[in-house]
Amino acid sequence: MNIHEYQAKELLAKYGIGIPAGYPALTVEEAVEGAKKLPGPLYVVKAQIHAGGRGKGKFKELGADAKGGVRLAKSLDDVKADATEMLGNTLVTVQTGDAGKQVNRLYVTDGVDIAKEYYLSLLVDRASGRVAMVVSTEGGMDIEAVAHDTPEKITTITIDPAQGFMPHHGRAVAFALKLSGDLNKQAQKLAKQLYTAFMELDCAMLEINPLVETEDGNLLVLDTKMSFDSNALYRHKDVEAMRDETEEDPSEVEASEYDLAYIKLDGNIGCMVNGAGLAMATMDIIKLNGAFPANFLDVGGGATTEKVTAAFKIILKDPAVEGILVNIFGGIMKCDVIANGIVQAAKDVNLSVPLVVRLEGTNVEQGKDILNNSGLPIVSADDLGDAAKKIVAEVKKAA
Ligand code: ADP
Ligand code: MG
Repeated sequence: MNIHEYQAKELLAKYGIGIPAGYPALTVEEAVEGAKKLPGPLYVVKAQIHAGGRGKGKFKELGADAKGGVRLAKSLDDVKADATEMLGNTLVTVQTGDAGKQVNRLYVTDGVDIAKEYYLSLLVDRASGRVAMVVSTEGGMDIEAVAHDTPEKITTITIDPAQGFMPHHGRAVAFALKLSGDLNKQAQKLAKQLYTAFMELDCAMLEINPLVETEDGNLLVLDTKMSFDSNALYRHKDVEAMRDETEEDPSEVEASEYDLAYIKLDGNIGCMVNGAGLAMATMDIIKLNGAFPANFLDVGGGATTEKVTAAFKIILKDPAVEGILVNIFGGIMKCDVIANGIVQAAKDVNLSVPLVVRLEGTNVEQGKDILNNSGLPIVSADDLGDAAKKIVAEVKKAA
């Protein structure tokens, strides 16, 4: 799960981490009220969307010369003008895709005099089974280019969670940032605070970009992105309450209500599968046959007719779907029960695209009979390879 910048900053502030003052705003009035509480005379108005690259982003509705999603404002009138221009409009950044994201929230924050921008992030490094701290002196809006063109400017320090954060980790971070004197001490302290926050909040990723050195010699977090391990959210009700469903794909939100694991993808073949491993294999074999999956969907072990129907509806809401492949292994669930669910669901949703079903497992013969006698144009398949071939052929035929 992701949260907004202003929410992440609220969480980090509780760990004593240096954050410029700021206020979230849903309306132009709130933005101006927020700015009034700040010392001024420099304010920054920031679009709150679950995507980075806002500074260099462009608003769809505004001209090419218009300012992006992070704006310096030099007066309350400027704050008002920027808030008016940004709210309700669609910001397109390198991370949003062409569709962009509508800006429904702003964050009005203190303008900081920046001496230098740094980069610091923490993530779970599965390969080493450790927490990786990724550090660079080249922070700011071009970090992707730095990673690509001059990877030697990026240092990775890994921390064994069983051992925890040690003073030498802090020194390594400060050294990699080439800091001396008091700034060096501040960096060591900050690295430890960030590690503590990362572990205590069960983060999957915590990125600070930029971390800045101010003209008066302080380290401040100017921008942060945080994402959390969804499986640990039950331990963090305050974080869970920060979820903003308007930032998520509506189909994915609906799927989570039915306890379906659904991820929308770019292809044209909808997949309904039980078990994540089988779902992955199904997607692979669709690709092997020259087509692309429209989604990942795991209906889970105990799929009921209701769940199967909901899954069908979610798949069909995607206008790109030109065919559906159902690949279910009836282990705990029996194939005849699944077949009944599929037939019922296909009737309920007035299925208009080709449907290929591959069933295997307990009562598979009864299941196949139910599909064949349903009067619906369901194509039955014998194995995974056969199923993928058939759905790709059906979609080609229908096109
Ligand atoms: P994004 O990463 O989405 O582009 P950032 O919050 O990192 O958004 O802002 C982009 C740039 O704007 C930063 O690299 C920094 O130079 C500048 N900036 C952001 N917040 C402030 C601030 N409070 N004061 C001064 N400059 C800022
Ligand atoms: Mg940034």
